[in-house]
Amino acid sequence: MLRFFLTIFFAILGLAQLGAQTTPPIRIVASFTIPHEWCQVAVGQSLNVKCLVPEKSELHGFQLSAKDAQSLDRASLIIGMSPDLEPWLAAWVKANHREAKVIWLSPASPTTDPHRWTDPQEALKMLEALHLALGRLLPGVASPQTYERQVAEMKAVDQDLSRLFSSLPENARTVITQHPNLSWFAKRYGLRIADTILASGSAEAADPSARHYSDLLTQIRTQQVRVIITDEGQNETLARRLAKDAAIPAPLALSFEYLEPRGQDGDSWASMMRRNAQRLHAALMTP
Ligand SMILES: [Zn+2]
Repeated sequence: MLRFFLTIFFAILGLAQLGAQTTPPIRIVASFTIPHEWCQVAVGQSLNVKCLVPEKSELHGFQLSAKDAQSLDRASLIIGMSPDLEPWLAAWVKANHREAKVIWLSPASPTTDPHRWTDPQEALKMLEALHLALGRLLPGVASPQTYERQVAEMKAVDQDLSRLFSSLPENARTVITQHPNLSWFAKRYGLRIADTILASGSAEAADPSARHYSDLLTQIRTQQVRVIITDEGQNETLARRLAKDAAIPAPLALSFEYLEPRGQDGDSWASMMRRNAQRLHAALMTP
């Protein structure tokens, strides 16, 4: 009898050990603060999602450290925005054959502008897709309550911003941006982007040629450009010179590219969107 119980006991112990060996902890790594927030919302408090690009940091010129590569190597799931936006992540995934472990929120860029999260309706589609993919790939980790709250918040942001920008007069809707990042936002809220100072968001993007600079000046005059939008934390010497030469107000620095550290205004996608929209609206309304 004792032998029988011992056999059962060791069998259970063996199974428990086997279980411990075959189910490593779930580790989710997100590329930058916005996919990180959405992923954390989608899984709730059950898991701590790791973020590669830190808060308030430029995402275009990011380079993976050895520690980042180690986190990616151990990840059960990797969340990125799009291969066009995070070529540094796409290159790592390809070199390490992890295609099956990646969810790209925006897998195929329908336009040349991969900053799709600046349109709340697109953000909502991406969050929904993430929620579904998590349910399929990691059953049991999704958190319906926090997800539903975020869906409601995204809809509220869209309503508020639609109302805000609908009050703008027709001749106060044109801007120039530092890099091509606001086409989704502009389309959603009826703004026009006359041109961009830089051709891309990459850290190596060259300063504009003398010809492009004079084109920008002409466009400011002929298209009634009200505001030059720069990227907070980036060099805005040229934008300042352009505004001065065109006799329009100094550039407006906005931060659509990252979230602020926790506890500060702009520490969530919703507060980042509201903060940028209010500042831009105020600048466009200034005669
Ligand atoms: Zn950008």
